[in-house]
Amino acid sequence: MSTKVPHTRILIGLVAGATLGCTLNALFVEPGPPVKTPDWLTWIINNITEPFGRVFLNLLIMTVIPLVFSSLAVGVAKLGDVSKLGRMGARTFGYFLITSATAAVIGLTLVNLVKPGAHLSEDTVAQLKEAYGGTAEEKSKPAEFGVQTFVNMVPRNPFQAAAETNMLGIIVFALLIGVGLNYIPNERAASLVPVLEAIGDLMVFIIGVAMRLAPYGVFCLIFTNTAQFGFGMLLSLGMYVLVVVIGLGIQLVIVFPILLKVMARANLWEFFDKTKSVMLTAFSTSSSSATLPTSIQTAEEELGIPKSVAGFVLPLGATMNMNGTALFEGVTVLFLAQVAGIDLSLSKQMIVVALSVITAIGAAGVPGGSIPLLAMVLLTVGVSPDLLFLILGVDRFLDMLRTSVNVAGDLTAVMYVNRVEGAGLNKPSSQATPSSDLVDCSDLQRSI
Ligand code: ASP
Repeated sequence: MSTKVPHTRILIGLVAGATLGCTLNALFVEPGPPVKTPDWLTWIINNITEPFGRVFLNLLIMTVIPLVFSSLAVGVAKLGDVSKLGRMGARTFGYFLITSATAAVIGLTLVNLVKPGAHLSEDTVAQLKEAYGGTAEEKSKPAEFGVQTFVNMVPRNPFQAAAETNMLGIIVFALLIGVGLNYIPNERAASLVPVLEAIGDLMVFIIGVAMRLAPYGVFCLIFTNTAQFGFGMLLSLGMYVLVVVIGLGIQLVIVFPILLKVMARANLWEFFDKTKSVMLTAFSTSSSSATLPTSIQTAEEELGIPKSVAGFVLPLGATMNMNGTALFEGVTVLFLAQVAGIDLSLSKQMIVVALSVITAIGAAGVPGGSIPLLAMVLLTVGVSPDLLFLILGVDRFLDMLRTSVNVAGDLTAVMYVNRVEGAGLNKPSSQATPSSDLVDCSDLQRSI
């Protein structure tokens, strides 16, 4: 099965789904708020496009836990020297933190300059409250975020962690297995590593199946969103939406290219050309987790990143590195404070930056995964999370954009780590010989 991702066909699916969805929306949907969709269109969405879109998403997501587990464990085992893990981990986290903080500062600067919250009419606030007040109550329950979050990173039962998609727990378990493979007797490690690699290969096979369906899956996902979307809302929240979009644009077309040139010394054109299909998948699924299999595959096969780097940085990035989300959180907290007439001091804004970065690490890589954490940030700086009803109507649209930026950030991180770890000389994994792919445990043990 070819693992090449048909990005032109995905793009056609995306454009066709968006065009049809927007046309039917413009002709038959009352813009709201609240948005009113005719029954026949709701039927098509509920019985055809939404279920098919979900099947496509499920195909991708079913590979995430086995893929993260196997690629991280093998990635660490293949480092060949456990001391490299600490250095690579420190560089990866440092990069995540700095780029997320930069994104949040860009967002806050823009929102301070434009002040979108000051321009919102009382009528719009009242309409949005009527339409989304109820949904906001359940969606915006502040997430528990504190010591327990860190305790949960070390799962009591790895199978339960997998069943609950506790990604941080799986990451810690996989890291320990990878480190352990360097310490257990050679012959045992040598028999387990190929099994883990075979699991990874099987997941790549399933991703190949999913990507064949991608043009149709993407069509359905985008159609479902655009056909029901309240485009009127984009106008009523125009300034806020614009600030988020401009901020994400700055991160994508200014910050990332600078980082790619300066930190990763990469060819920009080649990078964006080869990662197109990953960005399209992120855009249409709004999920870093669902995009992870495609990013690992693209990093290894197209960008020539070795398994030990891609398998380490990308699973961590999909869970912990969310530049777009940090920017979105920063803008939204300040926007809602402006609507509520609360003037957040500079020191409180610094807290918003710090919390946006920390909560972007904790947010789940699923559609709307950051909303409960955003509620927690709002609560911490004294803004009511109930106000989230104001942005829920446009969140799906913003989620598609911020997820693309999140995933682009992960790919820039993998380029940087690959360069500084000096592993960039490796051939793309598809060209590597099987024997060179296997970990030589005797060497590993000697190096400990
Ligand atoms: N949907 C985002 C992601 O998966 C998370 C979020 O910001 O809600 O990266």
